[in-house]
Amino acid sequence: MGLDVSDLTEEQRDIVLAVRAFVDKDVIPHASRLEHADEFPTSMVETMKGMGLFGTTIPEEYGGLGLGLDTYALICAEISRGWVTLSGILNGSFIAGYMIRMHGTQEQRDRFLPKLATAEIRSSFSMTEPHAGSDVQAIRTTAVRDGDDFVINGQKMWVTNGWRSAICMLLVKTDPTAVPAHTGMTGFIIEKEPETNPPGLTIPMPAMKKLGYKGVESTELIFDDFRAPASWVLGGEEGIGLGFKYFMSGIEVGRVNVAARGVGIAQAALEEALKYANEREAFGKKIGNHQAIQLMIAQMATRTEAARLLTAQAARKKATGERSDLEAGMAKYFATEAAQANATDCMRIFGGYGYSLEFNVERLYRDAPLLMIGEGSNEIQQLIIARRLLEQQREGKA
Ligand SMILES: Cc1cc2nc3c(=O)[nH]c(=O)nc-3n(C[C@H](O)[C@H](O)[C@H](O)COP(=O)(O)OP(=O)(O)OC[C@H]3O[C@@H](n4cnc5c(N)ncnc54)[C@H](O)[C@@H]3O)c2cc1C
Repeated sequence: MGLDVSDLTEEQRDIVLAVRAFVDKDVIPHASRLEHADEFPTSMVETMKGMGLFGTTIPEEYGGLGLGLDTYALICAEISRGWVTLSGILNGSFIAGYMIRMHGTQEQRDRFLPKLATAEIRSSFSMTEPHAGSDVQAIRTTAVRDGDDFVINGQKMWVTNGWRSAICMLLVKTDPTAVPAHTGMTGFIIEKEPETNPPGLTIPMPAMKKLGYKGVESTELIFDDFRAPASWVLGGEEGIGLGFKYFMSGIEVGRVNVAARGVGIAQAALEEALKYANEREAFGKKIGNHQAIQLMIAQMATRTEAARLLTAQAARKKATGERSDLEAGMAKYFATEAAQANATDCMRIFGGYGYSLEFNVERLYRDAPLLMIGEGSNEIQQLIIARRLLEQQREGKA
């Protein structure tokens, strides 16, 4: 069930089927237990490492699989069908790999890409602060030059993979007075030992408690005169003041990833609902024979397919190197709303059992809402879509 693999290239088909088999055998039967315990899925992550998934989009010359964003999206949808947390663990490294490849110096590419490809190191990505999420240009963390170093002060929040990562893609202000504000923002590749607090950086553990998306830590990062060598600036000296641009490009590919997660959750909810509707009886027949249930199933399936197509379109457009904020915004918005709607309909179809911790439905129902918030909330996506369309109309393209 799920994506029809006959349309894929042979390479894509092989990897999608391998990931699907891994998810069916090793993820779905165990995900809820680990999620309820908020336990890091070590053995699943080891399998993903062995399959080379952390290096999916990293070029072969750096030890990756050298596959495109479209294939990465297919993989993320399959993984999220099992447990969306695994996609979150993968994604920090994916975004870092993309940003270093696109914007890093040659030395930074040589240093980090081979280790990210094999998952010898994993990465986190940090923009959000306690007072600013959507309004990225309002962040307050600063990096002030001091000889060959920068001294970083400030507080970050909601950093997925914050504790276990060995590098963190960090967005700060190097010129807090700059107008417009984004011209004073700079990205750093912060190096640290996983699961330790280096001098000047505190990562409070245990991590933040969450409704869902459990098993991977989301942490704060508290910088107190943390010293970062100037060589850690993403893009080197030339990258100073370009951090906002670099991080937005990372977020744009991240949006395709989140759309793919939406496809995965929507698909999982549909599969659970179909199975249950063919088993459960009410009023002398399988509930799947009641029209009200059939209407929900039809809507769930249609949403899932539409989400899949929008996500594939966004991934293809991004892969061309053309501007794709419109397509990525539409895919992220639609696919994540589809995930939420399908999780809710699945719970309705399960009746009381949907509310039980024994079935996967309640986990899907708790995991789905994050997708509407993270990587740019769905309200922000709608603004991006509308503004781009208005712009195109003014340019005579729409
Ligand atoms: C589990 C989890 C993991 C996360 N992981 C990471 C991570 O790894 N790295 C990271 O940097 N961040 C991460 N985040 C943060 C996430 O990206 C932010 O929560 C998100 O960007 C929204 O920001 P906010 O929470 O500050 O909400 P706000 O920006 O305060 O928004 C609140 C509400 O106002 C709406 N809103 C804001 N501005 C506008 C506007 N102009 N027009 C219309 N509506 C608007 C929003 O859509 C939302 O509904 C994570 C969050 C969670 C919950």
